[in-house]
Amino acid sequence: VIEMAGVSTSFGDHVVHRDISLGVRRAEIFALIGGSGSGKSTLLREMILLQQPNAGTVSVCGVALQGISDADALALRLRCGVMFQHGGLFGSLTVLENIGLPLREHTELDDGLIKELAAWKLQLAGLKPEVGAQYPTELSGGMLKRASLARALALDPELLFLDEPTAGLDPVSAAGVDELVLKLRELFGLTIVMITHDLDLLWQVADRVAVLADGSVAGIGSMKELAAMQLPAVRQFFDGPRG
Ligand code: ATP
Ligand code: MG
Repeated sequence: VIEMAGVSTSFGDHVVHRDISLGVRRAEIFALIGGSGSGKSTLLREMILLQQPNAGTVSVCGVALQGISDADALALRLRCGVMFQHGGLFGSLTVLENIGLPLREHTELDDGLIKELAAWKLQLAGLKPEVGAQYPTELSGGMLKRASLARALALDPELLFLDEPTAGLDPVSAAGVDELVLKLRELFGLTIVMITHDLDLLWQVADRVAVLADGSVAGIGSMKELAAMQLPAVRQFFDGPRG
């Protein structure tokens, strides 16, 4: 459902991606790994129309992103749920209001129904109903991640993008995320693209993993295949400190 071909990206003279090509299949859990600054978040942003590569093509759900009209871009964005690396909930709204916001902005549903749907997504993300009345600053890191996941699910996306879903979580909260990701794929047939440094999560849920190093894809395959490949850039990731 996602195809990238010959993607190159630079910021000034800082080259982030050189000629990256990769594809993500429908209902796949696809992970991007690589050192800090290797361009994972940028690649993800290029998949969800938040950034344009300098060269190459990206298509999502069969729609080419280069030269896409504003209307088509919005329609496509609404099919993509995104959980950003730094949360991104509005501090002035309660958790339930945050989850309901995409529904308020992009549907004609009435307030009662929006509340109900938001409460369902809250539950789906593994949070208790009372959390809905709280403000983002009152939540723990793990709860905040789940709340932003609930918001990413608000519009029943076909594709879900997760940037570091377990970063900063204790092992117990992080372990819950494995199950949650698998459950979402099972329930909705979601295609999931995630960025993570979490080896447990990668082994538990990722169907395929792409390793970014020096602006290129150093390796791509299942964790088992990658572990067997013995590529220097991949070995470094497997052996190195967890990020
Ligand atoms: P991390 O693991 O730290 O999240 P990452 O792999 O997600 O890293 P990116 O955020 O994609 O890395 O950034 C890749 C490189 O591009 C970094 O050197 C970053 O400083 C640079 N970069 C990203 N966005 C911009 C921007 N808007 N303007 C200038 N440089 C940028
Ligand atoms: Mg990043």
